[in-house]
Amino acid sequence: MTRDRRCTLCPRRCGADRASRPGYCGAGDAIRLARAMPHHWEEPCISGTRGSGAIFFSGCTLRCVFCQNRAISAENFGKDVTPDRFREICFELKAQGVHNINLVTPDAYAELIVPVLEEIKEELALPIVVNCGGYLSPEQVERFGRVTDVWLPDFKYADGALAARLSGAGDYPEVALAAIRGMVARAGKPVLDADGILQKGVLVRHLVLPGQRKNSIAAVEMLRGAFGSDGILLSLMAQYTPNGADGAPARRITTFEYESVLEAVVAAGFGGYCQSPDSAGQEYTPEFGLQGVMEQA
Ligand code: SF4
Repeated sequence: MTRDRRCTLCPRRCGADRASRPGYCGAGDAIRLARAMPHHWEEPCISGTRGSGAIFFSGCTLRCVFCQNRAISAENFGKDVTPDRFREICFELKAQGVHNINLVTPDAYAELIVPVLEEIKEELALPIVVNCGGYLSPEQVERFGRVTDVWLPDFKYADGALAARLSGAGDYPEVALAAIRGMVARAGKPVLDADGILQKGVLVRHLVLPGQRKNSIAAVEMLRGAFGSDGILLSLMAQYTPNGADGAPARRITTFEYESVLEAVVAAGFGGYCQSPDSAGQEYTPEFGLQGVMEQA
């Protein structure tokens, strides 16, 4: 009898046999990485003073049209590595003094990397961060939850029609909210150490999109209704930068759009972070050239 190898891991449930062809997300049957380096542009409670050990995975289950990382999300730039090499990379980042191991868009690789992280978690002795678009299935939350201390999900959309148009995921609002519920149930309320580095908990990111402030305000209200003002931290992001892709909004957000969403965040009583509306998008987007992925000589 042959094992059914059709992948149904994420909410896409695209059914690809990843050993013979990539799924909707672009992932095959090996761990594929684009970059593994200390990263200094996350929120202060993640990057701290020494940087976050960011491991960027290739492919994406959401593939939003406005993505700033299209080389990895849509074009699947990266290199396949073995589980042993993935393990080494975690320790190489630790040796560089990072505050945590930050798995960036690891969604499609849960079955491949969680067993490695379970083995090394105690020796690694750093918080493990899952940094994702929020569109996770209950199975993904359960698997990552075995090793994850800090969750860094987006909550992009309260408006399903907008989610369908920009990310091909009309069920995003309910799927992502359920996923974040699972994260909060596992991690509990946010806990910072004496240096202000997040050790446990959920930090939700929301990017304000041009012309979509009502979606943003509704997203903030949904989060407030689900988690209260102290169940999560919230990071309000203003860095939207047009990428020229078909269907992607073609301008940056206005100060009015940003400030009206910020008012809703303040009214909701969330703790967390906000970005200046004149933040340059490019500085938050690292170059992808396999830095830290290849074995050291
Ligand atoms: S993880 Fe990738 S291959 Fe698996 S169901 Fe999702 S999109 Fe398809």
